[in-house]
Amino acid sequence: MIRPNLLILCLLLFPLTTHAGLVFDFQYGTGSNLWTDNHKTALNSAANTLADYLNVASPVTLTFNVTGHSTNGGSLASAGSSLYATQGFNKTFVQQKIQTGVDPNGATADGTINWNFHYNWDTDDSISAGYYDFKAVAMHELLHAFGFMSLIDSAGSNTANYWVTFDDFIVDSNGNAPISNGTYLWNTSYNTNLTGGAGGLYFGGANAVAAFGGLVPLYTPGTWASGSSVSHLDTTYFTGANKKVMNHAVASGPAVRTLSAIELGILEDIGYSLATASVPEPSTWLMSLVAAGGIGIAILRQRRKQND
Ligand SMILES: [Zn+2]
Repeated sequence: MIRPNLLILCLLLFPLTTHAGLVFDFQYGTGSNLWTDNHKTALNSAANTLADYLNVASPVTLTFNVTGHSTNGGSLASAGSSLYATQGFNKTFVQQKIQTGVDPNGATADGTINWNFHYNWDTDDSISAGYYDFKAVAMHELLHAFGFMSLIDSAGSNTANYWVTFDDFIVDSNGNAPISNGTYLWNTSYNTNLTGGAGGLYFGGANAVAAFGGLVPLYTPGTWASGSSVSHLDTTYFTGANKKVMNHAVASGPAVRTLSAIELGILEDIGYSLATASVPEPSTWLMSLVAAGGIGIAILRQRRKQND
């Protein structure tokens, strides 16, 4: 791992890309040699696709530290955005910046993206067999930085009283919240739900529920999967033609690049204003059935005193 001060020295600035009031400033650091112009163009394209879904009140520039590596195995890519760990439910820096126009962390990058170039990536719109859909995965990762992620951890590790906005809408199958509204502490009687027991966990925000027609099942496999559990839609439920961008894993071949009404509802629930343009029909691309690679997320946490 490269040290933070070296990372700063390695930064290169590339042309900005702007869409719908959002400017994405991707700064390529460690592993920048792995990022070809095609990869960079595809990342910009994916970012602009997401921006088109949103109504942004005041133009903002989002800065991302983008890194790359080539590791045999492991996740396809990861992304994150820091937040101030104050009691309650907090927006990620990226989320806060888009939603309020206020930059919470000054010149520091708002988010991070790390890509695994060991896998075969197809960066255009016609995905070859055996290749992963770069733009689809980039949309997925950027959405994590946008706040589509949970800070809920494995059983026994949920001892903090700060969470991300997404967690404000986590409920069980009966609509009961495992995080107390008053103390913001995790109720350990819901520990079994973390690994799919008692029906698992759901997203219960009003817009998402209206879109789905009920509580939205989240991914809670029988063994806790750090970076995957709870932070994704239930990959075992949303299958076949119902696969979603925010499933926890994706097969090679063409993947879903269109946000579903459910995912758009979640974005609304966590504070986004959606563009009024009509929503495209869900992708009907056929996906291959070869082994799926996991998509992890890296959640960076930053503390500050509450009186700051
Ligand atoms: Zn993910």
